[in-house]
Amino acid sequence: MAPLRVDCLNPEPRYLSRCAKPSRQILPIQSGAVFMNLLARILNRFNRLLKNGVSGRDPALRGSGKCSHMSPYAALSKSPRALADGPILVFQHPVKPRPSAAPPAPGPLAPQSKRVSIDAGDTQTIRAGWLIDGRGGPVRQNIRIAVKDGIIAGLWDAPAEPEGAASQAIPDFSGCTVIPGLVDSHVHLTMRGSPDEGLRKRLRAASYESIRRVIGDHLQDHLNHGVVAVRDGGGMRGYALRCARGYPGPVCVRAAGRAWHREGRYGRLIGRPPAEGLGVAEAIRQDGERGDHLKIVNSGLNSLTEYGKQTAPQFDLTEMSAAVKAAAERGLSVMVHANGAEPVRVAVAAGCRSIEHGFFMGKDNLARMADKGVVWVPTVVTMSAYARIFEQTGRNPDVARRTLDHQLDQLAIARRLGVTVALGTDSGSPGVEHGAAVIEEMQLFMQAGYSLPEAIPCAAVHGARLTGGEFGLIEPGRPATLVIVEGSPSTLPESLKKVRAVFIDGIKHVETG
Ligand SMILES: [Zn+2]
Repeated sequence: MAPLRVDCLNPEPRYLSRCAKPSRQILPIQSGAVFMNLLARILNRFNRLLKNGVSGRDPALRGSGKCSHMSPYAALSKSPRALADGPILVFQHPVKPRPSAAPPAPGPLAPQSKRVSIDAGDTQTIRAGWLIDGRGGPVRQNIRIAVKDGIIAGLWDAPAEPEGAASQAIPDFSGCTVIPGLVDSHVHLTMRGSPDEGLRKRLRAASYESIRRVIGDHLQDHLNHGVVAVRDGGGMRGYALRCARGYPGPVCVRAAGRAWHREGRYGRLIGRPPAEGLGVAEAIRQDGERGDHLKIVNSGLNSLTEYGKQTAPQFDLTEMSAAVKAAAERGLSVMVHANGAEPVRVAVAAGCRSIEHGFFMGKDNLARMADKGVVWVPTVVTMSAYARIFEQTGRNPDVARRTLDHQLDQLAIARRLGVTVALGTDSGSPGVEHGAAVIEEMQLFMQAGYSLPEAIPCAAVHGARLTGGEFGLIEPGRPATLVIVEGSPSTLPESLKKVRAVFIDGIKHVETG
């Protein structure tokens, strides 16, 4: 992989503006010089480590067939500013007021062109060969994107370039396609995507220090594929949440901590049941662990041997409604793992924010979700991965393949009904690799009937809403959080395997080629 490069369209990095976490304690550093100094020291150290051949992946936990690298997270963890559970340093510079950017209504909207004047000195202009702005409208060609202070200041067609623009330093991506920064709305950062059960077991038993490095690797994998934000769906010890609390960026990490499930039912690997004698709502109220959102498990896993088998809800409507209310009292939205008609019906009726997986939920549930604005995260790629693993290991893949086809049919119905769908991969599941799985999930969306400009909002702005980010759309007033791939849009999504550049708040974090 190419060495990390940090470049800057924005002289004042403002990670906080992109993914603020109110519960963090912030110790501001007001000087740009101090920040750049520190950044240079970290990068020097990172480059030294690369030269010395030190791997960021813990050898004991390394999966087979993946190249090893030192992630910026791992480099940070070895620096004096090692991540800690206590107060953290956030590089906060004076934040200038920005135009308010209310989230747009879902569905395709016509892209808007806007002329801007170029201020001498501190506005830079990106030449884009093609632009998919994330609103679902048609691809635009030969676009200029003006960036000032990490914010998109304007977009215009090349012939309408304002006077003076040519004299500015212009990153030339005229042979490239520019899309919004992507969001994976369902990941498990503490788990590797390897199907090797021995490795998966070792990870479950690994120390927090080891897992922290694993998470750093996964965040680098996401960034390398254009993913700027992830939403974690839980782990058995809540390590992703603990790690997220001290992670300075650049990827926006939102984590649930440990999920809730009923004693004796599925969920032990990603959470815990309420203490004996306690209802789930009361358990949520008394819980000392506060995630960025709440995860509840309300069904079993999909059967891989009996097609269409459904399981009973773990919590009934009264319990689930009380749980959603208790979460709301703590300011948390609820993501619900639910497969099958009844578990999904209960979760939607109770007022959950999103349905995760939703295999075999049926058309009626999709219609209810469209009515109520409940987001669906279908994680189709998990079933494709199972089919592949079964083929490779001589097991019968028929049920996995038929389940995959059924989920694609549901996705086509969701598109017709106008359900808000957010792309999430469940990366960390067997055969589902962090970062790379976004490519296959997007391909599956397109197989279900989504055009590329329709799939991009699912992979960007819909996920941004779930994570509370302002990114996900390329329009004036939004952060300059952009992914740039070589060639025309016809190269997508495969070209995400090797992105040309990733900008977050106007700062370049990945560059290849
Ligand atoms: Zn999951």
